[in-house]
Amino acid sequence: MLVQNSLSEVLRAREELFSRTNWNDPTSQLQNRVKGEDLARYFVLSDSERVGIQNTIRLLVSTTPYYLSLSDPSDPNCPIRRMIVPTKEEAIFSLEESADPLEEERLSPVRGLTHMYPNRVLLFSNHSCSVYCRHCMRGRKVSSNEERMEKSDLESAFDYIRNHPEIEDVVVSGGDPLNLADLRIEWILKELNQIPHVKICRLGTRNPVTLPFRITDAICQIIEKYNDDNLSIFCNTQFNHPKECTKETKEAILKLLKVGVSVGNQAVLLKGINDDEETMLTLHKKLLEMRVRAYYLYDPELIPGSRGFRTPLARGIEIVEYMRGKIGGMGIPQFVNDLPGGGGKITIGANWYLGFYPKTRQHVFRSAVTKKIHFSFEPIGSNKESYYPKISDEEWEKWKPR
Ligand code: SF4
Repeated sequence: MLVQNSLSEVLRAREELFSRTNWNDPTSQLQNRVKGEDLARYFVLSDSERVGIQNTIRLLVSTTPYYLSLSDPSDPNCPIRRMIVPTKEEAIFSLEESADPLEEERLSPVRGLTHMYPNRVLLFSNHSCSVYCRHCMRGRKVSSNEERMEKSDLESAFDYIRNHPEIEDVVVSGGDPLNLADLRIEWILKELNQIPHVKICRLGTRNPVTLPFRITDAICQIIEKYNDDNLSIFCNTQFNHPKECTKETKEAILKLLKVGVSVGNQAVLLKGINDDEETMLTLHKKLLEMRVRAYYLYDPELIPGSRGFRTPLARGIEIVEYMRGKIGGMGIPQFVNDLPGGGGKITIGANWYLGFYPKTRQHVFRSAVTKKIHFSFEPIGSNKESYYPKISDEEWEKWKPR
């Protein structure tokens, strides 16, 4: 039976938790994580959240004290809280959902490695994280002890990469690779660094957001050591809301930048959390201030219990369309859909290009800034005119330069 605490009890419990946590120490943050039904001590729960905590069909429930401190104890609509606390929608498995919509397991030649694109692989280094995000698309693996990657599993994955010279780029993800011990991370980076055809390593980590203190001097030194002429190391993180952009996260990002790691953001479009234009614009402005470049905005996957997070596809297109012209291009994410069935990612965007009018050899565009129609000419001698969608005489009459 979940406890039902009053706001003053919740605030007292939070104060006690925060004071017993050695705040800047990542180990202390992890040791003091709030798990499962204990969440009831730190939030005045709604009925929906009570059902969610008790009946979730997804990954474990857990948050660091740091990330908890960003959440609102009494407002169930707080965006950070929505990413920490399950709601009743998480207890429903809908017919169209699948635990592995991208068919990563089918595309896995060895345990813990997915080879979907010809020159890139995804390596699942581990399956633990600092916070278990309710929208996580790898709920089938993340937080499960059965999915634990042993050293021998990683060795088999490295053998596979070694034996496939076409692999140039390895995404190390999970779970969160930065939840591994420093020594294990060093070993992984060293192995990748020593494979001559692997040129790029991308660390997928949410720790800069959920446990920024994990970006220690020691881990930065390790990353710097293997970020060299043989291997370029990038970091892709996942900020989803402006409230996540704190002084602590900024310091963590700066540390990564100082060791030559370029940091990009892969946000997830989440209903009721960031699915409005101004929130997304503010988030990306704050990210740029932290020198984080926008990379992707993901349309959430059709995973079990995801109905509470999914938005119409049009929302992502509209949001990115709104951002164009209001922030520099490096602050605008590409809206992507990772195609169910293992089709890989595709980008979906607003239609700024309206087509080609063969009679005048003009292209017709819609401007994001002026909102007017603009024109340019196809080069003389072009053999690409059949490539473009054609504009009819009727449409041309409507749009032609006056
Ligand atoms: S940190 Fe990433 S892998 Fe871990 S729960 Fe969150 S989204 Fe999933």
